[in-house]
Parts: sequence; C-alpha cells; structure tokens
Amino acid sequence: MGSIANAKIVGYICRLCVQAHSIVIHLYSDRASALKLIEKLQFHLDLTISQEDIRPKVICLECFARIEEIHRLWQSERPAQDTEKVPQKDKEDTQKDGDDSSDAAPMAPNVSND
Ligand SMILES: [Zn+2]
Repeated sequence: MGSIANAKIVGYICRLCVQAHSIVIHLYSDRASALKLIEKLQFHLDLTISQEDIRPKVICLECFARIEEIHRLWQSERPAQDTEKVPQKDKEDTQKDGDDSSDAAPMAPNVSND
C-alpha cells in the first residue's frame, strides 16, 4: 500500500530534470544573471527561455552543476577564447576542414614489365 504522505511534494519543478526540488536557482535571479545561466542553457542545451515562458524558470542544483560542467568542458576545448565570454548562438563558427580529398590515390597500378 502506498503512503499518501509520499504524494506531498514541496518545492519547485526543475526546468531540466522536471523533478521537484526545495532548493533551486531562479533563471532570472541576480545570481543566475551573474553566472550567465540563461545564455549557457540556450547555447549548450538549445533551450528557449523567456520571461513569458509558462514552463519552469528554475533549475535544481544538480542540473546547475551539470550545465556548469558542460560549459567548463566546452571552454577547455577552446583555450584561445576569452573564458569570460559566453558564445553567441547566431555567430557562425563552423568550419569545414574535411573537404580535402586530394590525398585519395588513384587505384591504377603503374606496372612496367620489361
Ligand atoms: Zn534538475
């Protein structure tokens, strides 16, 4: 038999993991703003977040730790970039470098038999 007490959930629903947490970070708080949290979520997770959004505007500490880890890994692969900057999504930085097929050797054997 299930206990009805377990159905009582106190807290906020995390935007990312959709679990209820009593301690969360509001995406429009000063702290989140200082951490550029919305920018990171939008860039790394392709989330669209706005003030008018009816979905939760909080994330739990676990998800916060994850996004910080993702961002840290992302930065570590780009050591030349300013680490204080959060990337702009509309900036095209994709480079094609696999377009060189000049090293594909022709399969014609050059056999001289004399
Ligand atoms: Zn979460």
